[in-house]
Amino acid sequence: MIRIAIALTCLALGMVGIVLLGEYQARDAISLDPQPLLILLVGMGQLIRLMGQSTLGRLLLTGALLPLAVALLSYLLPEYWVSLATWEHLAHPLFPSISLDGWRPSLLTVLGLILLAANAWLGRSPSLGSPLLLGTITLLLIMQCVESLPYASANQVLRYAAPLMQQLALWGLLIAQTVAFLPTWYAERGNLHRPLWPALALVGISLLFWHQQKGLEDRSLRADMHEQNRQLAGRFSQEIHDHLAAMRRFANSWNLLDTPPTSAQWTHQAEPYHRDFRYFLNIAFINLDSRIIRVHPMNLNRQVLGERLFDVQPEGREALSQALFHGREGHTGIVELLQGGPGIIHYLPVISTDDNRPMGAAAMVVSLPVLVGTLFDEIDTKRVFLELRQGETTLASLGPTTGLGPWQYQTSLDVVGHSLKLITRPSRALLLERRARLPVVSLAIGLTLAYLLYLVLYAYRHLALQHRALHRSNAELRNEVQARAKLQQEIEWLARHDELTALPNRRLFMETLKAQTKQRPLSVMICDVDHFKQINDHQGHLIGDRYLKHLGEVGRDVVEEAGGLFARYGGEEFVACLPACNARTAQDIAERLRERIQAENLQHHDGRRLTVSIGLATLENGPLDIATLMQVADEALYRAKASGRDRVVCASNGTSLEAGR
Ligand code: GH3
Ligand code: MG
Ligand code: MG
Repeated sequence: MIRIAIALTCLALGMVGIVLLGEYQARDAISLDPQPLLILLVGMGQLIRLMGQSTLGRLLLTGALLPLAVALLSYLLPEYWVSLATWEHLAHPLFPSISLDGWRPSLLTVLGLILLAANAWLGRSPSLGSPLLLGTITLLLIMQCVESLPYASANQVLRYAAPLMQQLALWGLLIAQTVAFLPTWYAERGNLHRPLWPALALVGISLLFWHQQKGLEDRSLRADMHEQNRQLAGRFSQEIHDHLAAMRRFANSWNLLDTPPTSAQWTHQAEPYHRDFRYFLNIAFINLDSRIIRVHPMNLNRQVLGERLFDVQPEGREALSQALFHGREGHTGIVELLQGGPGIIHYLPVISTDDNRPMGAAAMVVSLPVLVGTLFDEIDTKRVFLELRQGETTLASLGPTTGLGPWQYQTSLDVVGHSLKLITRPSRALLLERRARLPVVSLAIGLTLAYLLYLVLYAYRHLALQHRALHRSNAELRNEVQARAKLQQEIEWLARHDELTALPNRRLFMETLKAQTKQRPLSVMICDVDHFKQINDHQGHLIGDRYLKHLGEVGRDVVEEAGGLFARYGGEEFVACLPACNARTAQDIAERLRERIQAENLQHHDGRRLTVSIGLATLENGPLDIATLMQVADEALYRAKASGRDRVVCASNGTSLEAGR
């Protein structure tokens, strides 16, 4: 598995290598795109980690994580905390010739690379969230595929996805990590699916939410920019309207004269108008021969002084004739001005009010580029590109031509009967600055929460399993203890009982007897089956055993009824301890036992009844000497056997008393 992972990582590194080589050939080495470099760094770290060099691998991964963390912060922090200019300034030593947008990898790639590097850094431990990291990177890469679709990228201010080859390299690194992780995954599969799926679902929801939010945010930013364009166009129209009104006032002020104005008069009168409307390139007086005889300001217009307009500017002849000969104000279309550049010339008739005689015309020359420049001087022209167009011809333009954003806005204007277009194109820097951080922040929070959820659920599940195992081993232990206690009871019972007849055995009998320190009289009985060997010999041991059991039950009945203890002494011999029984009582009990046994009608093979011989000994008073007492009883038994069996022989304090039939 590790070998396959290493091969896949090498393949991914090869892809990034091709990208870098292509870029190196296309540009110079200094301005290389840092994004593939960062992928290369993470891939190298991963490869070295996979090959077992963990310290060196971690070093490389840390080297990649640091700039990635800075890039992520630049996405997250609001503009008024740290401005774009500051980020660019910070990155300047590393990437001197690239703007922030150039050096910073796309958002989804930054997140993906951070997670890849973190997973490689941490190792393949499920308890550290490795499966979730891999799952999240998968979702991020799928989202990058979606973001790379043409319809998605057209509307974006930011780059959200890496180019195709780089995405493929990222897939390679991801698959390599997954392959390396598979054995652990397989071993832990029972523990993994419960924490993994809810956390992955949270990641998916965060990504969808982010996708939705940034779409809305882009739309609102576009609307703002469009509104700005409309406002500019409105101001433009308003200004043209205002200056026409001012011009009429200016022209009327000459009507009281009956000679053309002197140079001093002209300058004096024109000066305040020129100050108010700086884009008036020239305020001129034209005589009836269409010659320019007064100009203001002089320095700009000296060369046109004395020119005959009918000759030098034939496209304005119609409008000028209207003013000079018909007393009607008029204006040229958009013409190439004598001073250079496109503009409009307004002609206003100057008519002597005394005799209603035309004296000439006042001409006001408006330069469109100067008009555009003057009107929009408070706009940050470093960040917005402005253009005034008539059809496909650019009349005036302002602002940067590079680093422009993806969006362009236009509003149509009617200027002196001409349809013009005012076009604005905000620069990428301006758009980035105005972009809201909320979608990225909520995505980052969503991913962090998913990770925490995974860790909590994993830990919880781990604890639950440990708890269950503990519970199980507790139960096993309890059963074991119970079994042992039962065994112990059995052992204890067996130590004091006979297994075949379930009667107390010799040990319990002896203990019981030993305990009789005060009970006097005290009798003991030894009962031996007569000719029992023959039963075994002729009827087999099974029958012998059954007879012994039967005898035991009968003996227990009789003796326990009399308050004594009946025990198996060994073989086919039984004993009884009869406290508080004198010789007579003991003899009665023994006789009853003998008779009961006889009455049971247990038979020998030849039909003879099974009988017992019983020896009795009684201690009337005095201290107990068990050995002697048993000895006396045994002797009594011996005598019973010797005297023909099937009888009770009683010995009392050494005196034997023969009884029976
Ligand atoms: P006696 O009248 O002299 O007592 O003759 P006996 O045959 O009863 O005496 P003996 O002591 O020679 O034989 C006792 C026999 O009891 C020997 C043995 O095979 C048998 N025996 C001892 N314990 C058991 C037992 O637990 N089960 C069976 N089936 N036989 C047993
Ligand atoms: Mg015997
Ligand atoms: Mg016997």
